[in-house]
Amino acid sequence: MKSVYMDHSATTPVDARVFEAMIPYLTSEFGNPSSIHSKGQKARQAVETGREQIAALINADPREIIFTSGGTEADNQAIITYALNNSQKGKHLITSAIEHHAVLDSFHYLQGLGFDVTFLPVNAQGMVEAETLAKAIRPDTILVSVMHANNEIGTIQPIEELAAISHEAGAVFHTDAVQTIGKIPIDVRKMGIDMLSASSHKLHGPKGIGCLYVKKGVRIKNLFHGGGQESRLRAGTENVPGIVGFGKAAEIAGQEMHKRAEHLNRLGQRLREGIVNSIPNTIVTGHPEMRVPGSVSVCFEFVEGESILLMLDSYGIMASSGSACTSGALEPSHVLLAIGLPHEIAHGSLRLTLGKDNTQEDVDYVLEVLPRIIANLRHMSPLAGRGGSQ
Ligand SMILES: *Cc1c(COP(=O)(O)O)cnc(C)c1O
Repeated sequence: MKSVYMDHSATTPVDARVFEAMIPYLTSEFGNPSSIHSKGQKARQAVETGREQIAALINADPREIIFTSGGTEADNQAIITYALNNSQKGKHLITSAIEHHAVLDSFHYLQGLGFDVTFLPVNAQGMVEAETLAKAIRPDTILVSVMHANNEIGTIQPIEELAAISHEAGAVFHTDAVQTIGKIPIDVRKMGIDMLSASSHKLHGPKGIGCLYVKKGVRIKNLFHGGGQESRLRAGTENVPGIVGFGKAAEIAGQEMHKRAEHLNRLGQRLREGIVNSIPNTIVTGHPEMRVPGSVSVCFEFVEGESILLMLDSYGIMASSGSACTSGALEPSHVLLAIGLPHEIAHGSLRLTLGKDNTQEDVDYVLEVLPRIIANLRHMSPLAGRGGSQ
């Protein structure tokens, strides 16, 4: 049976060149970067090369990169330790309603510690409007965190504008760039980003490694206590093979970004248009232009996201939904609700996120199978009234 993976916002396969680069550090070059001897120093060098490769991708100084276990840890460290370390300046924090749970739950944690958090609404395209932030920001706001692009609906935020508004009010600006690093250009200096979270496994690197960019002078603290690694900001022996892989993945993504984006935009457009043209009662979600290359998100009326996923999987197509059943409750995601979709429409959400190795043949296979699946599900659905039987 065919196997078509279209869930690259969840994770990506490790690039063969990345794996190749990692092998020595999983075998003969196993040294601890803190050791004085030559094996240790070889590992140290590898870590510093990885740091340089990642810094180069976002126009940062390598000394501004702290390696973490992934995007989740980077988000937690940026938000929680910045707030705790700077609370004498104010206790008001701002984020958006559509953030990843790693960000949202870090803010919920801070609310429990007595911080005042504003969750900004987004417009129907999933965008945080500059005006909304300008109205919410206050003299006691110390931190604003808005993701670069959303993992469910693909909308890219006006980061440069949001950062400028934050700085005018004296707040620092953090962005979760897990969905954009290596896919669209990022220049932390030009965009005014003070802190940025990234993760390796979303850009064809290994899992369990990520980083936090912290602009020189922005005062955060360590989450973990122990050794003095990562300028005393992240205790624990470095994940050397992970860092090597992340660095290599970042380097390749920088070189191939333009080519990949073109490919993904072309396939994404073919997929989106094909779906809309062949399946009635489809609602396209997210922003029409400001979106991550290759991210297609839609809602089908009168069907249920989880059923679509199971049916697609039986045809070898792997995708995801913002309305998958979590903890037994069928609740649409906070993102779909925040863009104003009614529950009954949000329930039929489907996210297809393409990757560099997807082909036009993959897209056409989905376009052959999906309309039949939706028609069949609607046929069986008690929700489908006259609208669903077209
Ligand atoms: C995947 C993801 C994360 C979490 O990254 P991990 O490395 O898996 O912890 C955070 N934010 C966004 C937007 C993501 O898509």
